[in-house]
Amino acid sequence: MMRSMTHRAPLLSESQALRCLLDGIAPVGEREQVDLPNALARVVSEPVMAQSDVPAFDNSAMDGYAVACGDIAAHGETRLAISQRITAGRQPTPLVPGTAARIFTGAPLPPGADTVVMQENCREERGHVVIQGPLAKGGHVRKAGEDIAAGRCVLEQGTVIRPQEMGLAASLGRATLPVYRRVRVSIVVTGNELVAPGAPLAPGQLYNSNRYTLSGLLSALGCELSYSRCIPDDLDATRDALARAARASDFILTSGGVSVGEEDYVKRAIADLGALHVHHIAIKPGKPLTYGTIHGTPLLGLPGNPVSLFVTFVIFARPAILKLQGRTELAPARLWARATFERRNPIKRREYLRARLQEAQDGHGHEVSIHSRQGSAVLSSTAWANCLAVIPEHGTVAPGQAIAVMPFSSLLSPLSD
Ligand code: AMP
Ligand code: MG
Repeated sequence: MMRSMTHRAPLLSESQALRCLLDGIAPVGEREQVDLPNALARVVSEPVMAQSDVPAFDNSAMDGYAVACGDIAAHGETRLAISQRITAGRQPTPLVPGTAARIFTGAPLPPGADTVVMQENCREERGHVVIQGPLAKGGHVRKAGEDIAAGRCVLEQGTVIRPQEMGLAASLGRATLPVYRRVRVSIVVTGNELVAPGAPLAPGQLYNSNRYTLSGLLSALGCELSYSRCIPDDLDATRDALARAARASDFILTSGGVSVGEEDYVKRAIADLGALHVHHIAIKPGKPLTYGTIHGTPLLGLPGNPVSLFVTFVIFARPAILKLQGRTELAPARLWARATFERRNPIKRREYLRARLQEAQDGHGHEVSIHSRQGSAVLSSTAWANCLAVIPEHGTVAPGQAIAVMPFSSLLSPLSD
């Protein structure tokens, strides 16, 4: 029954398949407060408003002298007595009319002053300062609320917190931020042939690399790995692991056991426990896309081939995870670079090649080269690469032609958008 289901699966474009997958996924939505030092890469769960102006008061942008602009002659020099000295953090007294206040960067402007003269542009003489006119009124003054006005929304819901958002929240006096709780993800890796690294290999066995690729990808995206099992190709073991994974997490990723012709334990276990969908997608690598839900927990079945697993994670699992996290921008960053290679894609499937993006040798823009071995078992190509190059279906690429690339720097980080 499963086999005929697979054969009858329609061929979908990547975007159609992605829409089907994402339609079945809702943001986790549970909220918590996080201390500011632990807020990096978390997602803001409700708008954060400024309770007060930043800066809270008019202050000096320079070391110099605070004056009333009207006291300075439009032409020639004006000599004013220095009536007070204001350092950062001090409360000034009102400016005595017709005098200047010595002032330092960040110190509050005294009432009655409206302009700061840089110390480089004047000279001090026995308790007086000599200033050359004319002055531009308001010069070198940071106005209250100039950075952030009270009442403004500073962090929108769905914003990923980067170092600069941490600083911004601190500048408003916030010690905590409202965020969504971390998304919990389970990994179920299948394969009789797999051995954990650290143990010796028997003939015919290989090391379970996918488990580590996946846990790295999940950490990089700020997820919590809540359950991880490596199981043999066996229906009962698969059912058991998937049922546990569904209880433990918001999202399940499986590795292996879903390719055409494979003993269909993963698909059968999903169908037994919940809902199964199999679509053939016009991308390479990673043609069949297996997804579904088990007891309400969405699941994505990734291929066992290490490169296919990596690519399908980036194309399908990543946006699903971002949606679960409450993020609003799910599309990966793409940019254009000139190909250094020639390639003909004879098939009606979009190809993702392991590639390296670098500054062009002639200093104009970027160029992209591809790894010489693009096989789906050549995991070293993913380590060599810093991006995926996108070759359209039936596309031909000539050297010098601009093609789309997806840099890992944005694909594998929660901080990029
Ligand atoms: P499968 O999708 O289960 O048919 O696996 C396809 C290929 O990927 C086979 O050559 C497997 O040995 C290999 N493979 C499957 N799972 C893993 C894994 N966890 N780590 C490394 N290679 C794997
Ligand atoms: Mg297998």
